[in-house]
Amino acid sequence: MLVLPGELVPADVEAIRQLTFWYVQLMRAVAEESLDLPFPRLEIWMLDLTEALTALAPRVAGPPIAPGDVERVGGQVAGKTMPLEDDWSRAAVVSPGAALASDDGRAKGLALFSLLHEVGHTLVERLGTLSGAREIGWHPTAHSLRKAGNAVRHGLDEWRVSSMASTALRGVITNGDGQPVSIPELVGGTYRDALGGVLDSVCPGWPDAVTRYRNHRMSLGDLYAQVVGETVGVFTFLSHCEAEAAMLAQSTPLRDEYAQHPATRLYLGEPWGALVDCDAPLLAPVCEFADAEGAYLSEVVPKIIEMWRRVGLTFTDGPGPEDLRIDVAAPLRDAAAP
Ligand SMILES: [Zn+2]
Repeated sequence: MLVLPGELVPADVEAIRQLTFWYVQLMRAVAEESLDLPFPRLEIWMLDLTEALTALAPRVAGPPIAPGDVERVGGQVAGKTMPLEDDWSRAAVVSPGAALASDDGRAKGLALFSLLHEVGHTLVERLGTLSGAREIGWHPTAHSLRKAGNAVRHGLDEWRVSSMASTALRGVITNGDGQPVSIPELVGGTYRDALGGVLDSVCPGWPDAVTRYRNHRMSLGDLYAQVVGETVGVFTFLSHCEAEAAMLAQSTPLRDEYAQHPATRLYLGEPWGALVDCDAPLLAPVCEFADAEGAYLSEVVPKIIEMWRRVGLTFTDGPGPEDLRIDVAAPLRDAAAP
């Protein structure tokens, strides 16, 4: 099912339908032939994001929809993917589509990439539930092991789906001279460029927050939300960076120009390095997916728990989903830092 804005002229509607149909068929072939995965039933919404999210919110089988929580490509709002059944057998993809009928090659290329990236998310989530690697349904919890596991999954997923999308589009998007260009070249900016600001929010951001808590200027709940919540966000961001590095044949940014950043040296370098070095496949067919994802989790989750301990937070998960004990100690900082 495809939902398009009402104001499009019929020729544009036809062009968008054709292009969407063929590229969704391509993703169906990837799912069925490479991943042995039945293709989910998809609704593709090409309306304005806020309009689409408002319409879909009551039907989403998952965490409540936050209208600001959308995918960005090089800082531009791109799309969002949501489950309509809690096993991801049915899903909605919101992706800007009017540009698919445009003569502007850059806008058209971005719209195609966004569509395939979001459809890719539905395939990975479906792989997760069908293989047993991921829980069916939404079960919120404060447990540190689950939060660390979520960070690993988000740390893999953007990388996975952008790899899928760029493979599917290899050679399709070209510059004015007819030479293939990658998405980072097309948008003229990268996640990697913005990574310095993200790393600054980790260090000094996290140890400063711990110090504020210890000086009674911040609540424990706010400290938990900042460090644990941002860990998931930072891993998602690093995942986008890793996908870009692959598209541009560059090395992983934390071992390149950001290797000496205190956030890398003190906290993120070990867990992210373990994720990048894990030799399990990034994508695998349904029958192998749980083992592959399990290998990443067993390598990286303990390193995230250790990273939080270095920041000053030691967690003990309790019996109930919201039962969590947090012990706070002085954060590990550079010896030279005050
Ligand atoms: Zn994404």
